[in-house]
Amino acid sequence: MYQEIDLEKIDLSSEPPIEEPARQYYFMAKCRTWIQDFEEEYGHKPKACVVNMGCQMNARDSEKLTGILEMIGYEQTDREEADFVIYNTCTVRENANNKVWGRLGYLNNYKKRHPHMKIALCGCMMQEAEVIEKLKKSYSFVDLVFGTHNIYKFAELLATVLEQQGMVIDIWKSTDMIVEDLPVERKYFFKSGINIMFGCNNFCSYCIVPYVRGRERSRKSEDILKEIRRLAKEGVVEVMLLGQNVNSYGKNLEEPMTFAELLQEVEKIEGIERIRFMTSHPKDLSDELIEVMGRSKKICRHLHLPLQSGSSRILKEMNRHYDKEQYLQLVEKIRRSVPGIALTTDIIVGFPGETEEDFAETMDVVEQVGYESAFTFLYSKRTGTPAAGKEDQVPEEKAKERFQRLLKKVQEIAAKKAEAYTGKIEPVLVEEVNEQDESLVTGRLSSNFVVHLPGTKEMIGKIISVKLNECKGFYFYGEAVNETGSAFAKKQ
Ligand code: SF4
Repeated sequence: MYQEIDLEKIDLSSEPPIEEPARQYYFMAKCRTWIQDFEEEYGHKPKACVVNMGCQMNARDSEKLTGILEMIGYEQTDREEADFVIYNTCTVRENANNKVWGRLGYLNNYKKRHPHMKIALCGCMMQEAEVIEKLKKSYSFVDLVFGTHNIYKFAELLATVLEQQGMVIDIWKSTDMIVEDLPVERKYFFKSGINIMFGCNNFCSYCIVPYVRGRERSRKSEDILKEIRRLAKEGVVEVMLLGQNVNSYGKNLEEPMTFAELLQEVEKIEGIERIRFMTSHPKDLSDELIEVMGRSKKICRHLHLPLQSGSSRILKEMNRHYDKEQYLQLVEKIRRSVPGIALTTDIIVGFPGETEEDFAETMDVVEQVGYESAFTFLYSKRTGTPAAGKEDQVPEEKAKERFQRLLKKVQEIAAKKAEAYTGKIEPVLVEEVNEQDESLVTGRLSSNFVVHLPGTKEMIGKIISVKLNECKGFYFYGEAVNETGSAFAKKQ
């Protein structure tokens, strides 16, 4: 495992190894020599800032980037006024791209005053050809650009940047490579995201992900289980299994394993008390999975099940491969087999051609399902996706008006759903000291609702019983209680 690797012992006079991840450790050792020179010259370690944008899969990749930078010897900082800054970008909506262009302007001014500074860009946005052209033309102060398929090669690319001037660009169209055992610096000691697969084969007509993350490829189950066993030994009690569509896990493996089978193996791992997963595509959510969730002691009582639209006509246009009735039947089956399950979803408003009748269907599904919460989005045209070429784009004003109506309904229902938990005693994983009030800690229910309660930092990472005294719309105030349900005596 990477903790046992001593970069000082790597012989840099020999050629870099071909096999991975040994090759990347060779380049980490090479980068470290540059760090040592920097320390001699400036009298301090260089600072590195990893800026994560986008989804939980990006967040997990950013933990790898941070792990590699730490292994090399950089000091982590959250401030972008650093010696090395890397943006792990997202491109799921237009505004994500605009954010990057905006911030690069600020970085360029800082770099003018600190010419040794290095700037890098990676992630989904870099997989777009027009983005690379724009970078070459107008952002020549950027030193390194790479994509989603070769993130494991970061150390090797960084070594090239540290040795030469000029922009280094390495974008791959696709890959079947999955490199294990690279350094990872986790944000939380008690929970961790676990990428179980990469890419997506679904090609929903509005979505850019299949074009920037490539075809589905699953990690071997033994590598995933080995990683989770190690994390459990390190004190992790909650894991979030991540994939664009976890329900199609294992299809490309030599020894195929279904997602439900993988979950049952994870359930056996001692020390892991909670299992979460994201994202599920309704068309692939199997009866086997529902049955496993119903029987499980560790799988959290929360399922994120993107609907996107309630109109069967629009769902067809979106290439989602289920219709309104099938989605509602699936929800009913899940609710029957998994008591107390909290359902959340994603909904797009303003998809090309969406009529008032289509939108009414969406509102009807929201009413029928009664989601604990929903992520609602205005349709964002993504160049290169089939939907972007559709004539009948919905006028922005109309889309915004519908969006407001949907948001209001979702919030009304979510508040009612949350209210029903008031007075209950529920297990809560304490996650952090409350940012606004240090006498409080903040944690999450199995259903993913947030709770604030009096507590101390010693409680972080522990699952405790909490009485939910007050509901504040989508979160709660509560108090820690003992096994008899009575509150612990206040410390004098
Ligand atoms: S399932 Fe559809 S929406 Fe989700 S990542 Fe794949 S193509 Fe995009």
